Amino acid sequence: MLENDTVAAIATPIGVGGVGVVRMSGPNSLTILQRIIESTSQEIEPRYTYHGWIEDIDEIVFVYMKAPSSYTGEDVVEISCHGGIGVTRKVLEVCIKNGARLAKNGEFTKRAFLMGKIDLAQAEAVINLINAKTEKGIEVAAGQLAGNLSKNINSLRGELIQTMAQIESSIDFPDEIETDNEAIKKSILKTIEKTDKLISKAKYGKIIKEGITAVIAGKPNVGKSSLLNALLKEDRAIVSEEPGTTRDTIEESINLLGIPLKIIDTAGIRHPTNKVEEFGIERTKKEIESAELVILMFDGSNGILEIEDNLLLEAVKGKRAIWVLNKVDLGSKLAVEGIKISALTGEGLEKLEKEIYQSAIGENGLAEGGPIIMNERHKECLIRAKESLQKAEESFKIGGEIELVSIDLKEAVEALGEVSGVGVAEEIINKIFEGFCVGK
Ligand code: GDP
Repeated sequence: MLENDTVAAIATPIGVGGVGVVRMSGPNSLTILQRIIESTSQEIEPRYTYHGWIEDIDEIVFVYMKAPSSYTGEDVVEISCHGGIGVTRKVLEVCIKNGARLAKNGEFTKRAFLMGKIDLAQAEAVINLINAKTEKGIEVAAGQLAGNLSKNINSLRGELIQTMAQIESSIDFPDEIETDNEAIKKSILKTIEKTDKLISKAKYGKIIKEGITAVIAGKPNVGKSSLLNALLKEDRAIVSEEPGTTRDTIEESINLLGIPLKIIDTAGIRHPTNKVEEFGIERTKKEIESAELVILMFDGSNGILEIEDNLLLEAVKGKRAIWVLNKVDLGSKLAVEGIKISALTGEGLEKLEKEIYQSAIGENGLAEGGPIIMNERHKECLIRAKESLQKAEESFKIGGEIELVSIDLKEAVEALGEVSGVGVAEEIINKIFEGFCVGK
């Protein structure tokens, strides 16, 4: 899979900015650079920044990183020019005219992987990190990039390999080496447990990466848009004193204590008539159905539940819901259990945020430490490993041949290895990097 040509791409986003970076990687990077910059008497030493000009294009600063001390492990040149769409494109063009090939999506990171600078889980962490929008997302992705996940899984894999070696030597030398079945069984069970723990944490990884969807449901004028705004801490949705002004559902993403939360304000369900049929309960029901969490809002300053409140209560049956009593600044009259808030004054909002967080992550879901699985592919590898280990354990139970146990363990070792890229098919690797952007 290793390619020996020199590739180039714009590494910064397409748009206007102070600086734009064009990156080259491959054996001819330095030669191409020397061709395109106006003659310089300076010797270009690796890791030093130099100032120069590309004729008729721009004034630049560049740095040359010599293989293997670079991101890709190949010779790399980074050219910082002015951050205009036209200028960066021109600089890229001139690199290509002078012998570079346009890099494919994720090709720099793919080369880093193929050159052994990083493993596959670390390469996948790069994209997690780029896409992370909250501090928790950054933290988990950075840990994966630093190799925490790979280290953890490699150590599991190492233990299994040892167990396999024991079994194999007892197969090869049945007279000299006796198998300690109890010890082998114990080691398999221990690995199942550890694998299971990693798998169970994948749900947090998904939440950290993709967030959760919550819908705010409540009768017209109860304060749904106000709550959304208060959570957003800015006036994005339109708030009005007349029910019926915000017609469409409003979706916003917020960073809730480190996890992305998509909130849907079902303001669109309201109708400027009093007719219950027109309340749009069907539509609300649909919104409620698709959400992972419902923030069910009542008017806490009103002593009774109205007909729409009861319709909503009917609609959220069986859903995960947090009950909220709003407008408590006007008095707390409703005898219903819930979090008392005022979307107007901000009272109780912190408590509500904590409650939403806990309903997603659990009391101490993330407190435990250890790596969090962020990628579906890793989870699948771990599930396969666990299944093979369970088969091995089964074989033991029914007093099966030790050779069979050895085959199952080998499968588990292979599945674990795939997390960091060992034995992963070329087309899967290509697919992973196709998901990257150009220039990464
Ligand atoms: P929605 O129809 O449920 O989206 O309700 P809005 O957010 O548009 O609010 C309707 C009215 O109630 C507006 O006049 C808000 O200012 C007011 N309101 C919302 N929350 C509170 C609150 O906590 N206290 C008080 N006093 N008024 C509120």
